[in-house]
This record gives sequence, C-alpha cells and structure tokens, in this order.
Amino acid sequence: MLSGLLVCGRCGSRLHVSYKHGRKTYYSCGRHRRDPNHTRCPGMGAGPLDACVAQEVLRALEPAALALSLQALHDLEDERRRLDQQWQQRLQRARYEAERAERPCRPSGSSKRTTIASRRRNRRG
Ligand SMILES: [Zn+2]
Repeated sequence: MLSGLLVCGRCGSRLHVSYKHGRKTYYSCGRHRRDPNHTRCPGMGAGPLDACVAQEVLRALEPAALALSLQALHDLEDERRRLDQQWQQRLQRARYEAERAERPCRPSGSSKRTTIASRRRNRRG
C-alpha cells in the first residue's frame, strides 16, 4: 500500500515492498544492494503499518464524508419540499376544476342570442 511513499529512517532511501517467506509483505530498504559499503538497514512488516495508515486515512476522511452526507440530506429535503409544493398546486387546481364542474350550467351569451333569434323566427312564422 505504501510502497515508494515510505523513506528509510536510517539512510533516507525509499522503501520497497518485499515478501518474506513468499507470503507476508515487508517494507525494506534496498540501499545495501546498490551501495556495497552500506550496511543493511532494518525493515518492518507491512501489515501493522498499513492498518495504522488506513485507519488514519479513514479518520481524516470522516468529516468530509459527514459533510457530504449532510449536504445530500439537505438536497433531499429541498427536493421533497419542491415536490410537495407541486402536489399542493395540482391538488388546488383539481379542487378548482371539481368546483367549476359542479356549478349549475348558465346559458352563455351565444345561446341567449340563439334563443332570442328563434323567438323572433317563431313570431314571424
Ligand atoms: Zn536504509
């Protein structure tokens, strides 16, 4: 996980990952391979260090994740409020249409004219 990011505390060289007994990961300094006059530096098992760094990374990300969750919650609340407002408007419109449909039919101006015209025709005929 941290290969190339860790630096040897003794010589300052970058640590690389090796596998001890082919299974356990191990951070080790390879300077003694490049420099024959350099004595071998101590290494360390990767498991506990990786776990510690992962825990710290998660702890550092926690406030950001919490902030994102709160923002998502606010966004959802805004969306719910907007949808509720739309449904209230639709409900109001449907009530208005229902009231309008229940009103007794009044003759409109054109039918009055038709009635007057037909009376005049009846008088002449
Ligand atoms: Zn070293």
